[in-house]
Amino acid sequence: MVQEYKLFIEGKFSDSSTGEAFEDINPTTLESLATVQVAGIGDVDRAVEAAEAGFLIWSEIPAPRRAEILLKAARILRERKEELAVLMTKEMGKVLPETRGDVQEAIDITYYAAGEGRRLFGETTTSELKEKFCMTMLRPIGVVALITPWNFPIAIPAWKIMPALIAGNAIVFKPASDTPLLALKLVEILVEAGLPPQVINVVTGPGGTVGKAVVQHPRIRAISFTGSLDTGKWIMEECAKTMKRVSLELGGKNPVIVMDDADIELALEGVLWGAFGTTGQRCTATSRLILHEKIKEEFIKRLLAKAKALRIGDGLLPETDIGPVINKAQLEKIERYVRIGKEEGAALLLGETDWTPAFLAISSSPRYLRMSGLT
Ligand code: NAP
Repeated sequence: MVQEYKLFIEGKFSDSSTGEAFEDINPTTLESLATVQVAGIGDVDRAVEAAEAGFLIWSEIPAPRRAEILLKAARILRERKEELAVLMTKEMGKVLPETRGDVQEAIDITYYAAGEGRRLFGETTTSELKEKFCMTMLRPIGVVALITPWNFPIAIPAWKIMPALIAGNAIVFKPASDTPLLALKLVEILVEAGLPPQVINVVTGPGGTVGKAVVQHPRIRAISFTGSLDTGKWIMEECAKTMKRVSLELGGKNPVIVMDDADIELALEGVLWGAFGTTGQRCTATSRLILHEKIKEEFIKRLLAKAKALRIGDGLLPETDIGPVINKAQLEKIERYVRIGKEEGAALLLGETDWTPAFLAISSSPRYLRMSGLT
């Protein structure tokens, strides 16, 4: 039976007020991994209230003591690395070596943030006045909201959660709807490590409603968001209205430049991994290649041969190089970009029928083929 996940508020799983749930789909098999509840506006309020209560407790705990909880969480993450990586491949699709790396990044940032617990230094400076002493101290902000994308389902949440926690903040966390399970596992691990209940609260559901309610909530003091440019622009505008602090990490259009004196084999590997790693769905993915004219023909020929040799399929299998793209909307986005490229005069070197590796990845699933109208 598929498990249903509730909202995580006040240190426990609790029912959402909407009575609605969405399915968490494995992009390789298109089977449902779990159903996850959709938070309502009132649930976001509840999460903020819980976080405010959590903040009063957490911000009073000295930072080196907070660090001890993070150290314990890092150890649990390390012990459960393989289990989390396998779950991530099922939930998000990328190959197992990559999901292991994703969990490792969460482990590393957790240790790093724990170390910061003994380094939250302020500054002193000289004063012009005899009786004036000038110094800065680092103080927590309060209740902060973290909104994350699906392409690094545990690393990106950890990059936001651990620094926020070590600094003494309490959290309302809205994870991507394509990868809620990994987010909930991470939070469970923090609570198991001893994080006081209420310090971290998770509201799941669509960005357009739940995310929006979080961004616009008057008692949330700061937003840390990673995701698309358009959402990021909107969040920045909204935060300006209430002077919320905002941190944004958005999309990229990343070029690789290869000169004629480059180590071509090394550059080819870099481009191949940069472009097709995480099925091309990284913010840092290589999306443009600028080649010196002297090596252009040779480079393209060799890159094409390497791209054709990539094996596409189930990310859990050791022979797979590339897993599926995350969902149908992402697939359609890729198709749209290829169409635009062709309309603008670009030559499609790999594909048309067998297409790009990202497309092939998805087309290896018969149900996806049906969904996308390809059979
Ligand atoms: P997205 O649509 O902006 O979604 C990202 C997160 O924001 C999800 O949790 C989403 O919820 C939520 N969201 C959507 N609309 C919202 C709104 N109006 N208010 C508040 N939250 C909202 O981005 P995506 O396409 O899923 O994510 C991939 C993007 O992230 C790519 O552009 C990639 O380049 C970028 N990215 C950047 C970095 C970096 O470090 N710069 C790292 C990784 C990814 P739902 O999931 O429910 O829609």
